[in-house]
Amino acid sequence: MELDDHAEDLASDLGVDKEEVKSDLQNLVEYSVPVDEAKQSLRRKYGGGSSGGGAPSSKDIAEITPEDGNVTVTGVVLTSGKRSIRYQGSDHVIVEGRLADETGAIDYTAWEDFGLSAGDTITAGNAGVREWDGEPELNLGESTSLSFEDDSLDIPAAYADEIGGDAQLADLQTGDRAVNVEVAVVECERRTIDGRDGETEILSGVFGDESGRLPFTNWDPAPEIEDGGAVRIENAYVQEFRGVPEVNVSEFSTVTALDREIEVGADSTTMDVGEAVRTGGIYDVELVGNAIAVRDGSGLIQRCPECYRVIQKGQCRTHGDVDGIDDLRVKAILDDGTGAVTVVLDDELTEDVYGGTLEDALEQAREAMDQEVVADTIRERIVGKEYRVRGHLSVDEYGANLDAESFEESADDPEARAAAFLEEVSA
Ligand SMILES: [Zn+2]
Repeated sequence: MELDDHAEDLASDLGVDKEEVKSDLQNLVEYSVPVDEAKQSLRRKYGGGSSGGGAPSSKDIAEITPEDGNVTVTGVVLTSGKRSIRYQGSDHVIVEGRLADETGAIDYTAWEDFGLSAGDTITAGNAGVREWDGEPELNLGESTSLSFEDDSLDIPAAYADEIGGDAQLADLQTGDRAVNVEVAVVECERRTIDGRDGETEILSGVFGDESGRLPFTNWDPAPEIEDGGAVRIENAYVQEFRGVPEVNVSEFSTVTALDREIEVGADSTTMDVGEAVRTGGIYDVELVGNAIAVRDGSGLIQRCPECYRVIQKGQCRTHGDVDGIDDLRVKAILDDGTGAVTVVLDDELTEDVYGGTLEDALEQAREAMDQEVVADTIRERIVGKEYRVRGHLSVDEYGANLDAESFEESADDPEARAAAFLEEVSA
């Protein structure tokens, strides 16, 4: 549905002016509030309820479904962290985290500051339920009656371990809120971006800990991060950026320098291709599979001098007729039987698998009067062999792409494996 239809919908439900609703809705959606959540906020603002009358029933967390309009829940606050979103033109602070009982755990968003702290046992009366990414979430707002219980609720150990939000980088997932990490700053640069309040300076780079590495953005540059070394960060949140989870350190996060050293794990996670694709994106992952094809647009290619994107027949999609820059690249399909990804090799890795430099490739193309011979040579060298690939996996509507940092022929008897694989494929 278009925004206009959503506005129409709301206006007729609530009996208010459509243009007014639409401008409110636009405001919320522009600041990344999901449209369903935005509509619920406006229903509250204009006095409508998100469900029919009657007091909501008390429910176990495991029983809550996105179809529940409002529920009453008792649980232990596992995490609680502030974050700022823009609401009707001004910054609005919300509190997010997770709540657990004996049966399960659920994410919540509190639109008012109820003073929730990790470890508190609370009862939220008349909490709204919304759907986010197929899962139910709680909305605690104006109409929620919140009380703190004197007796703390017993919850399973797996949830109890989550209280406070301490986590390792490898455990973080897109959508996680109010997490604490102790990390080494592996890379850090200061950048100027066009933010919602005009030009602003941020830090971006890579954090590492014993479990792995993840990219980060620090929206309010903290000197402790810029200085490098080891830091403890409290109340960070995880958002997807270019298909991989990214740690976001906001003005509400606490950053403290640590005295100890943090070893950054050298081992990336090794996963099945299918399993890796289902995660929706991982910053640092190792896959082992067979190169089953080399895609078009591999070998000797030309890039636009303006935007550096690949051009065809001297034409850039944005800049038109341009004088292209020669470059080498490989887009190979890697398959391990559980799934497939397109592995993208940069110029250096391509030189390795091609067995020659850019100049060699240009000469081969000149002699053959066809630049496709370079891709053909690469195809002959790698298709059918097994590779161990490490890099950044992103998954979007165009498929799964792995930006390779290393691409090595697998050590364990690749020829036997390749032969077996080809037999399987041709069978
Ligand atoms: Zn261009």
